[in-house]
Amino acid sequence: MAYSREKLSEEKVFKDPVHRYVHVRDRVIWDLIGTKEFQRLRRVRQLGTTYLTFHGAEHSRLNHSLGVYEIVRRMIDDVFAGRPEWDEDERLVCLCAALLHDLGHGPFSHSFEKVFDLDHEHFTQQIVLGDTEVNQVLRKVDRSFPKKVAEVIAKTYGSKLVVSMISSQIDADRMDYLQRDAYFTGVSYGHFDMERILRVMRPREDGVVIKQSGMHAVEDYIMSRYQMYWQVYFHPVTRSAEVILTKILHRAKHLYETGYTFQLEPVHFHSMFNGNVSLEDYLRMDESVMLYYFQIWEEENDSILRDLCRRFINRKLFKYVEFHPSNDQMNKLMELTRLFKKAGIDPEYYLVVDSSSDLPYDFYRPGEEEERVPIHLLKNNGEIRELSRESEIVDAISGKRRTDHKLYFPEDLLRDETAKKTTKRQIRQLLDLQD
Ligand code: ZN
Repeated sequence: MAYSREKLSEEKVFKDPVHRYVHVRDRVIWDLIGTKEFQRLRRVRQLGTTYLTFHGAEHSRLNHSLGVYEIVRRMIDDVFAGRPEWDEDERLVCLCAALLHDLGHGPFSHSFEKVFDLDHEHFTQQIVLGDTEVNQVLRKVDRSFPKKVAEVIAKTYGSKLVVSMISSQIDADRMDYLQRDAYFTGVSYGHFDMERILRVMRPREDGVVIKQSGMHAVEDYIMSRYQMYWQVYFHPVTRSAEVILTKILHRAKHLYETGYTFQLEPVHFHSMFNGNVSLEDYLRMDESVMLYYFQIWEEENDSILRDLCRRFINRKLFKYVEFHPSNDQMNKLMELTRLFKKAGIDPEYYLVVDSSSDLPYDFYRPGEEEERVPIHLLKNNGEIRELSRESEIVDAISGKRRTDHKLYFPEDLLRDETAKKTTKRQIRQLLDLQD
């Protein structure tokens, strides 16, 4: 039998706290799960530094990837199969792309990519197409199969329907992470009726559409996404940890570039510091490796690197105040920068403005930087309408970007009056900190 159609003699199930079970019958999927590149995702947390805010958020990208696979499998096997608009030949490429869509994520992706100018999507493509165990499995289906899977993930695949199942404003990726992140953080937002949404999804040439009768379940999904962004993903304490992490990586890179001698040579970081990262180097880096170095650096001679690592490892995070980048506030920031230097606290590492921004839902507006594929409702008479034209709730939040700025600093250092007492008092006054 062709490898692409080969089934396991018995169905394998993974117990999953969100979807109850993840079902695997296809040999190809089973083999992909067993590859070392997929198993590496166990050592990358889904929510990066969020575990320092919500202690339950220790779940990995492997958990999430299996979840996305399971949602796509249900869409196809339970809802789309047998419908004239659905081409069963697309099934396997959909399932593989769902399972592998986050394969290239690095440790604490957000800061890691920013500091070293890396892009996880680029590495996902390399893992799928390069010399890897994943590629070997995909090639057994046929020689052009890895390229197809890579195209679905890169959103360049010929079938818009297939792409929309994995990435659109109501895709399997978002439906999994919202529920999973809500479950592991323990928050009450993030829940919505996915069973209902799956039941009313219909395949169309241009993408998945939702039957009108499912509109309220979709409204609930969009609101839960909105809540999760502000209550969980952009939580100011998580961002504080992210700020420190970014500064650790900056400091280590700076030290390396200026010829500093580390007590333990950070070999895993060399190619990142040099800006020349091979796929092999990239795959060797995960959160266990990174945290290992941070623990070693807790005893480094450089006082900034040592202090930042101790903060991160022991959760002694920066405090924050609201910051609106107006003229007034920018002047205040300049004054604070001057006073920090005077107090002997390097503002480059200890005074940081961080911004978060999200667009809860948007429809396509020609000419805008981010083209968004809208959610389409299928009315009883067969007409297709963009969601915000039918839903007042969605219309109310469509296209409204919310941005939030905060200023982060180490309050404990500013309260330490053993040196530069007067300057530190001035800083505390400027930041409106109570004495
Ligand atoms: Zn994902």
